Amino acid sequence: MPPSISTVSLEALRHTAAHVLAYAVQDLFPDAKPTIGPAIENGFYYDFDRAEPFTPEDLGRLEQRMHEIVKADYPMTGERVDRAHALERYSRNPYKTEIAREIPEGEPITLYTIGDFTDLCRGGHADRTGEIGAIKLMSVAGAYWRGDEHKPMLQRIYGTAFPTQQELDDYLAFLEEAAKRDHRKLGQDLDLYSVEEDAGGGLVFWHPKGALIRSIVEEFIRDGLRERGYQGVVTPHVVSEKLYETSGHLDNFSHGMFGPLEVEGQRFRLKPMNCPGHILIYKSQGRSYRDLPLRYSEFGTVYRFERSGTLHGLTRVRGFTQDDAHLFCTPEQLQGEFEQTLDEALRLMRAFNFSEFKYFLSTREHRGPTDPIAEDAIRKALESHDLPYEVDEGGGAFYGPKLDINLHDAIGRPWQLGTVQVDFILPERFDLKYRGADGADHPPVMIHRALAGSMERFFGVLIEHFGGNFPAWLAPVQAVVAPISEHQLDYAYEVRDKLRARGFRVETDTSNEKLGFKIRHWKTQKVPYVLVVGKSELADGTVNVNQRATEEKRTVSIDAFADELAAVVAEKR
Ligand SMILES: [Zn+2]
Ligand SMILES: [Zn+2]
Repeated sequence: MPPSISTVSLEALRHTAAHVLAYAVQDLFPDAKPTIGPAIENGFYYDFDRAEPFTPEDLGRLEQRMHEIVKADYPMTGERVDRAHALERYSRNPYKTEIAREIPEGEPITLYTIGDFTDLCRGGHADRTGEIGAIKLMSVAGAYWRGDEHKPMLQRIYGTAFPTQQELDDYLAFLEEAAKRDHRKLGQDLDLYSVEEDAGGGLVFWHPKGALIRSIVEEFIRDGLRERGYQGVVTPHVVSEKLYETSGHLDNFSHGMFGPLEVEGQRFRLKPMNCPGHILIYKSQGRSYRDLPLRYSEFGTVYRFERSGTLHGLTRVRGFTQDDAHLFCTPEQLQGEFEQTLDEALRLMRAFNFSEFKYFLSTREHRGPTDPIAEDAIRKALESHDLPYEVDEGGGAFYGPKLDINLHDAIGRPWQLGTVQVDFILPERFDLKYRGADGADHPPVMIHRALAGSMERFFGVLIEHFGGNFPAWLAPVQAVVAPISEHQLDYAYEVRDKLRARGFRVETDTSNEKLGFKIRHWKTQKVPYVLVVGKSELADGTVNVNQRATEEKRTVSIDAFADELAAVVAEKR
């Protein structure tokens, strides 16, 4: 978006727009009681108490009136009053009187006015309504007063405002693009996955096409792990609660865990983390400094409790599979291992076409004696890779500082995916040791890392990043052979089988639809190539290639197309 020329902050502008909305509501729906109207990320809202619901037509009329109020360019004037005055003024609005009563003694109570509308408010406004360049009402939703379900249900009208019409237009275009890419919509349209309410919310069912993409992603990650000397392990989904007592998760993370399961008097838990399992494997035998670093990796499925109201498609779920790994090393090896992890993260993000990353180093609130060593290793590793980073003081995990990797998708939205954490605490809690060169026992350092984060979240981000147009190396169906008439049906199968024999994922369209319909259908299914075969293709042993990304059509031999696709897949395009 172009930088705005206005001097008023966007927040003040949007908060002023909330006043303009309340003014319009006062004029058109005098029975509605205004409550609060703050600026929020991307806009503003105002909550009203009104028996009748606001309809989309009402929003249209309100927006019309708001434009008039903006155009009238009313000055925003403030006035300090005493509490009795405010209570008297709002004697028929229990929300405003509640606010007026709660303002602490000695703090100013202020009323702000535009035109004929006066609101009880702390301030933070534009000087005039005319500073609002563009305004739009977005939606209406229910909201409890003060977010408390025991209090009255209000109607929240959402809107947005910008200094210029161009900025509003850009924002609306962005929203439209984001809606088109919504992974929940595309997940259904392209038959990739579902969340089955019958099975409980937040649990993902991967359909064949989604599962196929996942297996390609996993294979790509596994290749990288093999090259870097990781060893795969597999650990149980349900383990004794004692393990999480020892790890400290019960004390520090029980709010995020499913409740206990009792079997033969013993309490078990669904695993919320893979670390304790990997630690037990480390501990299963004596370790020497010569064995280190040990790198255990697992596509480890974990279960975490999330409130149903916070669940969201693939990106906020209750069961997910991390591309998890735990590295056990000596303190001297820490920086090198961290650097290698950064290399891996870059390999992953580049392969999936992400070009913008951000790194956040989170330190621990209660720093222990080992934190400086860990932070130093992380900083040096980042600096050795010339990667700039920001520091989040106190945002680290309970067992150590961590590095979060954020990336920006194709339309510039940030996503938090990978995390790398350094940990001196768990090795101590589990009494891990290795025999050093000096013949004495020492605790190893652990690195926890998940780079894609979870397969579910990563897939959700990939769907939105590519807008469902997966590059050919990921596409669940790479090409569809579409015969023009039934006379080419056998040839269509022959083309399909030849391409399948070369390892490609190819289907045949056997429907009786017209060719134009077939091509459109497979383009909406976002298949990279539709191969049309008619009379001349049959005679010449060729295919007519319709590429998803272009309108270009060309006729090539089956082998030439197979060679081309092989090159595209090899280059991960
Ligand atoms: Zn205000
Ligand atoms: Zn871990």
